[in-house]
Amino acid sequence: MLFYLLTGYILLQFFWWAYLLIKLNLELYQNVDPETGNLKVLMIVGEGTVFFIFLLAGIYITQRTIKKEIKLVRQQRNFLLSITHELKTPLAAIKLSMDTLTKRENLDKDQRNLLQNNVRDNTQRLNLLIGNVLLATQMEAGKDILNKSEVNLSELTSKIVSRIGQTYAGVKMNVDIDTDITGLTDIHNYESIVTNLIENGLKYGGGKPLAIRLFKESDKVVIRVSDLGSGIPDRIKNRIFEKFYRAENEETRSKKGTGLGLYIVKQLVELNKGTIHIEDNQPTGSTFIVKLPLK
Ligand code: ADP
Repeated sequence: MLFYLLTGYILLQFFWWAYLLIKLNLELYQNVDPETGNLKVLMIVGEGTVFFIFLLAGIYITQRTIKKEIKLVRQQRNFLLSITHELKTPLAAIKLSMDTLTKRENLDKDQRNLLQNNVRDNTQRLNLLIGNVLLATQMEAGKDILNKSEVNLSELTSKIVSRIGQTYAGVKMNVDIDTDITGLTDIHNYESIVTNLIENGLKYGGGKPLAIRLFKESDKVVIRVSDLGSGIPDRIKNRIFEKFYRAENEETRSKKGTGLGLYIVKQLVELNKGTIHIEDNQPTGSTFIVKLPLK
């Protein structure tokens, strides 16, 4: 508001001073030398126009910066709210399970297992969340986080899938991993990409089976994660990779998240000179396809 008021005032002042200057010049030279008077007016108009263009450019840049800043502050506030919630919920669950395990000695095996699984699941959730925040911070600080080595991606992917499978025991995962795909990869980046995609598929897949495929395509490894959830509308297919972006539908709101996962996936894929894109899955849901170079 203040910005627009000030801008209006500056523009009014600008035109008022130009008008006064021209008027004074014309009056001054009217009877002495009208030709010089006209030249002076031309000069004022010429220089005024240049100044006016600079002024407009300055106003435009300032307005754009202010808008960006406001958007960022809003996003950060949302992020802080969701991250506080995301940290507090699993911590409270872990504490409760641990308290029950230590205080109640007469628990049977099943009850103990349930509580232990609960602790493990929530620890895993915390781990992914903290890992994501850490990666995002490091990437934004421009840190070189790439540390590549020769890795057997078939084995690594199977490990990631079975680790996640223990947490989401209720959801079926159809896994099709080609054997002996090896290549130069950053293990942490790869784990983060695959974990985020699978966790999303499980989170937004409506409890229906998830399909995970890993295969080689010339000198690239292809990871495909397909879910049978309600899918992603075309208009937000690009937006879901923005930092802190969460779709504004009931399904997303009912699930926990920070809007950081896919932002990190995209950044990491690009950092590793790969590509990511989304296709609609049949009959419903979406397929995320990541291709990463192996050399
Ligand atoms: P988060 O899951 O923490 O909200 P992400 O960055 O991983 O953050 O995802 C951003 C948004 O993209 C999600 O909030 C959700 O609306 C949408 N999304 C991601 N993956 C899927 C999927 N497999 N199916 C449907 N929507 C998805």
